[in-house]
Amino acid sequence: MHFRRLKLSGFKSFVEPSELRIEPGLTGVVGPNGCGKSNLLEAIRWVMGENSPKSLRSGGMEDVIFAGTAQRPQRDFAEVVLDATTDSGEELEVVRRIERGAGSAYRINGRDVRAKDVSLTFADAATGAHSPALVSQGKIAQVIAAKPTERRMMLEEAAGIAGLHVRRRDAESK
Ligand code: ATP
Ligand code: MG
Repeated sequence: MHFRRLKLSGFKSFVEPSELRIEPGLTGVVGPNGCGKSNLLEAIRWVMGENSPKSLRSGGMEDVIFAGTAQRPQRDFAEVVLDATTDSGEELEVVRRIERGAGSAYRINGRDVRAKDVSLTFADAATGAHSPALVSQGKIAQVIAAKPTERRMMLEEAAGIAGLHVRRRDAESK
């Protein structure tokens, strides 16, 4: 799977609609402290279905919505769009939107879907040699310092085997 484009609106510090093209290969994000590098990675995780406040550095789910500054009022919603191409050449447009007091809604190619459909779409896409991997700040040091079992989990995730476990858990729960 190749991530082609990321669009953000009202997500964390990205209050104005912003759009980024993602080229094939390795992408690095650079910029001064506090400019939003980590927020960008979190936006990708979030649209892929991340719901753990810890990995989004937030207290609650609505904390990803632009909270306002002295100059700007807060936003009522946050939306992230990820355009991707699967290994079989299928084009995907995945949208996640959260509104204050209304929770998250997901769409894939314009169709309303469940959070689970989004997770499965990416879990499937992660099982391949060309699967995307997100490496955040501090992760390299973590890999070096990790115990062997932890390191194996990280490598499985990077190798795209982690997605298979999601599928298996889903099958076992049926
Ligand atoms: P560093 O180089 O220090 O790691 P960074 O480029 O990764 O910085 P981020 O952590 O992505 O920066 O961005 C931090 C900024 O995002 C802070 O200014 C913070 O106030 C802002 N921010 C986070 N959540 C929200 C929100 N919900 N509403 C408005 N601003 C937010
Ligand atoms: Mg950062």
